[in-house]
Amino acid sequence: MRLALFGPPGAGKGTQSLLLNQRFGLNVISTGNLIRKAISEETSLGRKVESHVHAGGLVPDDLVRDLANEAITEQQFDCFILDGYPRTTRQAVWLMEFLSAAKSPLDAVISLKVSDEVIIDRLSNRRINSETGESYHVTYHPPPPEVDSRLIVQRKDDAPESVKARLATYRCETQPVEMFFRQAGLLVEIDGEGSVQDIGRSLIGSVDRLNTMHML
Ligand code: AMP
Repeated sequence: MRLALFGPPGAGKGTQSLLLNQRFGLNVISTGNLIRKAISEETSLGRKVESHVHAGGLVPDDLVRDLANEAITEQQFDCFILDGYPRTTRQAVWLMEFLSAAKSPLDAVISLKVSDEVIIDRLSNRRINSETGESYHVTYHPPPPEVDSRLIVQRKDDAPESVKARLATYRCETQPVEMFFRQAGLLVEIDGEGSVQDIGRSLIGSVDRLNTMHML
């Protein structure tokens, strides 16, 4: 199965893709994580993209495409979920071409629908365990007391100015991608508000239905 999770920053793509990994064994390909890794390892790609990420903008399309294509190839074009890719119509067109050339088209793009109010609350209160990457919310899902508080950090791009910029970028550049996939007949929409467990249940229900359709 080949899926993409789509939605604004803070929609819960990272959290829910991990759940799909546990439930269906799908390998998560997160361009955001690959980019953060390149930045922290100070690779030449990391140095090129750092300023875009911290300003809340997008990394140039061709650089992200290369990262994503390499990761998809590593997964032998199957059994993956894309988290945060594609984020522009150009990336979406490239992805469709890349997968269709390998005769491995996407099965669905699942869009998590979340209001701006909820996004701002989630991102400004998000904290990350810098060692494990686990994500918390200050109020609704605080880090457990046994975790060393020095490991709990806020992502630089979750600072208020960056969040504003990321939402603006999302509206201008990423939201049109949803229409692209709707027209391609691949879009499945899910309510992305509520508890992590409730969203997870509807997501799993959708993937189960997709699996059943595949078997017919
Ligand atoms: P994320 O962890 O998915 O929120 O991604 C963090 C940041 O990485 C984004 O705000 C972008 O700067 C960059 N990024 C991740 N995925 C992409 C993509 N598909 N296209 C362009 N930039 C991306």
